[in-house]
Amino acid sequence: MTLVEENEVYQTCFHSNLFLGGFKSYADITHRYDDLARKHGIAVVRARAERIDRDKKEVVLSTGQRLPYDRLVVAPGIDLKYDLRPAGRRRPRRRCPMAGSPAGTARSSGRSSTPSPMAGSSSWSRRPIAGDMPKSAFSANSQAKVAAMTIRGELTGARTFPARYVNTCWSLVETDDAIKVGGRYEAKDGKIAATETFVSQPDEAADLRKANQAENIGWYEAISADMFG
Ligand SMILES: Cc1cc2nc3c(=O)[nH]c(=O)nc-3n(C[C@H](O)[C@H](O)[C@H](O)COP(=O)(O)OP(=O)(O)OC[C@H]3O[C@@H](n4cnc5c(N)ncnc54)[C@H](O)[C@@H]3O)c2cc1C
Repeated sequence: MTLVEENEVYQTCFHSNLFLGGFKSYADITHRYDDLARKHGIAVVRARAERIDRDKKEVVLSTGQRLPYDRLVVAPGIDLKYDLRPAGRRRPRRRCPMAGSPAGTARSSGRSSTPSPMAGSSSWSRRPIAGDMPKSAFSANSQAKVAAMTIRGELTGARTFPARYVNTCWSLVETDDAIKVGGRYEAKDGKIAATETFVSQPDEAADLRKANQAENIGWYEAISADMFG
């Protein structure tokens, strides 16, 4: 399994608000990829994925190297293309630089890839699109796990299960006062559709809001461990 990542470290956008608010340090939201190799045997290639040669099933890197793959997951996040901004529009349109969408754990990976929601390769047409799910790291991670299960099934014949997704997003209003919104989702008619949603209500008990923030902190620990080993 190979992870192609152009940056040496990853600063999480999620919880950057806690950094800005003085609740976390910059080091707290900065992660390295070393443990993926050391603990999990994932080959981390530090380069930019420039191109996908689908005929040869190879990823062409900025170093000139060509990485062969059996399954390829493309998860470059989003970027802004300022030159696409039409005259008079106040905000630039958001575009994906390659093909991906939120993924959580995987970038562009060759051979029996790491998880991600939307993928190049043979499985592309069978992936439901994000639909009702917010474009959060929680969603990306949930979608990545479904993608990983599907790919494992394809490669090893392991049992797969119907896709189920979850999401929660927390917002810290004040110290120990967090609200949240989220839901459960499943694939329906080629899209991800909400089956159940929830949102914090005004005038909730202080204990509940404090518990929300504890969940938020626990979630960050869990997703960081998922992503970086
Ligand atoms: C300010 C802010 C606050 C947020 N807060 C929250 C929150 O509280 N909770 C939450 O759940 N979500 C939050 N999000 C959303 C969350 O950050 C994203 O949904 C999540 O990071 C998407 O994950 P991803 O893996 O798809 O993309 P990214 O996290 O963007 O990762 C993409 C990776 O691909 C690499 N890459 C890109 N192109 C290439 C290439 N060609 N070759 C090699 N590598 C490449 C990049 O270097 C990067 O490491 C927030 C976002 C922002 C901007």
